[in-house]
Amino acid sequence: MIQFHHVSKRYEDKQKSTIAVDRVSLAIPEGTIYGIIGFSGAGKSTLLRMINGLEKPSEGQVFVADQEISQLADTQLRSRRQKMGMIFQHFHLLWSRTVRENIAFPLEIADVDPATLNKKVDYLLERVGLTEKADDYPSQLSGGQKQRVGIARALANDPSVLLCDEATSALDPETTRSILKLLQEINQELGITLVIVTHEMSVVQSICRQMSVMDHGKVIEEGTVEELFSNP
Ligand code: ADP
Ligand code: ADP
Repeated sequence: MIQFHHVSKRYEDKQKSTIAVDRVSLAIPEGTIYGIIGFSGAGKSTLLRMINGLEKPSEGQVFVADQEISQLADTQLRSRRQKMGMIFQHFHLLWSRTVRENIAFPLEIADVDPATLNKKVDYLLERVGLTEKADDYPSQLSGGQKQRVGIARALANDPSVLLCDEATSALDPETTRSILKLLQEINQELGITLVIVTHEMSVVQSICRQMSVMDHGKVIEEGTVEELFSNP
């Protein structure tokens, strides 16, 4: 369970202060696929980044599995973050490393022994359908394949939560469908909670169970996808 209690986030620059998230309270149940939708600048990405502590709330509390994220010491936060995978619009891959090396990277950081690491990477390559591309570099891959590398890397440390920040926004409709199918399988087979930030209605409609709509930092609607998309 991920919970936001009256959470606000303000960015202070020299010239101005921006309220990116404005008094949001939300509960995201374990095991679900949760969508956060809204226009660019609505605060979605900031909200997502407070779940794994990449941003700290200015006010309020964020809890993951009953632990208050912003109260964790650095070492605790690091091990907590390892249990939360994240994928991005522009993939954030390491361009000088092969597919295999990209996926192995979080396991190296976690000091996993080489035999376990190799087995894990083979499994992940197979799971995302990239076994044949293991020794290619990201620049040799299509957009969908790059995102599959991002997904495999995010799964390396057996996360309980996968945070998806506009993960399909750079992909064409057909590739988007195949990536969403993979994400759905990951949710069903591995029981991983997915939190999906997007500006695309179709993404939320096709795989999310619950959702909220953000506008100017506020959650303006919340409920099941069926409720929110049904005509009154
Ligand atoms: P979204 O993901 O919905 O596009 P963001 O969370 O990225 O929205 O941004 C919300 C608001 O906060 C925007 O006005 C954005 O410009 C601002 N913002 C986001 N990150 C920063 C930052 N690091 N410093 C200053 N302002 C930021
Ligand atoms: P992506 O879409 O790949 O996530 P973005 O362009 O949304 O990349 O954001 C890249 C980085 O810039 C993020 O860390 C975000 O917090 C920061 N950022 C976004 N908006 C602003 C802003 N108005 N001022 C300063 N930093 C920002």
